[in-house]
Amino acid sequence: MKVLFVSYEVYPIAKVGGLADVAGSLPKYLKELGVEIDLLMPFHKSIDRNLAIRMDKHIKTRFVKREFSFDVSRMELPKSDVNVFLFDNERLMDSEEIYGASDFGLQAMCFSDAASGFAVEQGYNIVHLNDWQTGLIAVYLKHSEAECKTVFSIHNLAYQGSYGKEYLDLSGIDENYWNEISEEGKINFLKAGLVFSDKLSTVSPTYAKEIQTKEYGAGLENILSRRRSDLVGILNGIDYNEYDPERDGRLWTNFCQDNIESKKSNKANLQQLLGLPKKDDALIGLISRLVDQKGLDLIEDIKDELMKLPVQIVVLGTGESKYEDMFKMLQKNYPEKVAARLTFDLDLAQKIYGGADMFLMPSRYEPCGLGQMFAMRYGTIPVVRYTGGLADTVHEFDPENNGNGFGFVEYSAEKLLEALKKALSVYNQPELWKKAVRNAMRQDFSWGVSATNYLSLYKKILEASSDA
Ligand code: ADP
Repeated sequence: MKVLFVSYEVYPIAKVGGLADVAGSLPKYLKELGVEIDLLMPFHKSIDRNLAIRMDKHIKTRFVKREFSFDVSRMELPKSDVNVFLFDNERLMDSEEIYGASDFGLQAMCFSDAASGFAVEQGYNIVHLNDWQTGLIAVYLKHSEAECKTVFSIHNLAYQGSYGKEYLDLSGIDENYWNEISEEGKINFLKAGLVFSDKLSTVSPTYAKEIQTKEYGAGLENILSRRRSDLVGILNGIDYNEYDPERDGRLWTNFCQDNIESKKSNKANLQQLLGLPKKDDALIGLISRLVDQKGLDLIEDIKDELMKLPVQIVVLGTGESKYEDMFKMLQKNYPEKVAARLTFDLDLAQKIYGGADMFLMPSRYEPCGLGQMFAMRYGTIPVVRYTGGLADTVHEFDPENNGNGFGFVEYSAEKLLEALKKALSVYNQPELWKKAVRNAMRQDFSWGVSATNYLSLYKKILEASSDA
């Protein structure tokens, strides 16, 4: 089985968000399961040219009305033997930002056209597409009448890639497809992927159900519901070798389930680093893009109440200025309680996962969420809104001492405050708290199970095509 995994981001080569983490780890695990898998990504301008070897190979667009040619380079995904192919075209990749090209729609379209040609030429059985930038690959493969099958993975339905009708004319895609691949008078790259791929997946079972509803479907709930028998939710994993509290060099003191007492020294060091007083109050971490999706308006609504509780809060994130300002202001007014670090800092992130007591993630929606998984791996108890992947990974700590976190269902500030108070009452009973921490650390969020689920999906597609 030969699989081409196509993604705009691959960690550690180019990363903006969670997609990079998935693309940089899942293929390694699939390869260990015996899948012949290669990665394909754009050779973004920000990627060091010395990292890859230029091949004597060029791939031309076949359908787009203006011809573009991509130079093909190759490298190995660090710490693995997975091949990464990179497509370069200076004119199309004209920005230092991964998603910043002057004509991003044209770039994604040409990349998809060329990727489909490459997949056919190289004889891949399956092309695994990720997010809207790769959606048109499914249509171009259909146009090629290729044998090659497609899986489309949705990492976030809110980003869809909508462009004016002139992009359909430019794309060389059959005009008759217009209704199927457009929304509100615009070509919609994500919808194209959803309509034309053989199988669909998303990154958690709960999100797979939610996106079939109006509340979460971002306008595409009908197509998703129509295709529900082809849609599965497979939970993302995290790389257990890279993120291990027993060996992580970014922590002050390493620890494991059997000596969670050592976690305390990380808390004390973290408080010192942040300039917070060394107190036993619960230290709550929040590491996030500061955007509406993450439920930060709920925190805004309870901020006065929150400041009356015996807690300290550390925020690490960047994003919308209204949220950055809110956390700056809280830090200014409550310097003994709040530390706001409005930057992107992977080292500090690990120190927070390792040193905080609780991890706050009250998301409005959350396709999978990695933060809560890192937190639990490092013995930090999540307090979340039970939605999407948060509902699949966090389970309420109960009087029988089962469960690994605390949460609420209804999107309301009052419910968030209740959940926090519940978490605090258990925190104040150290023996109980230790049980919750152990439960959290015992969870297995490694890629093992999920990679096997992807493999089954690939096999199902190929079996169906050989039966046909
Ligand atoms: P999303 O993909 O919606 O941003 P996830 O929880 O799936 O949310 O993944 C976010 C990842 O990015 C996590 O690994 C988190 O630790 C990391 N992250 C987010 N903001 C920052 C930041 N400011 N500094 C360091 N890491 C961050």
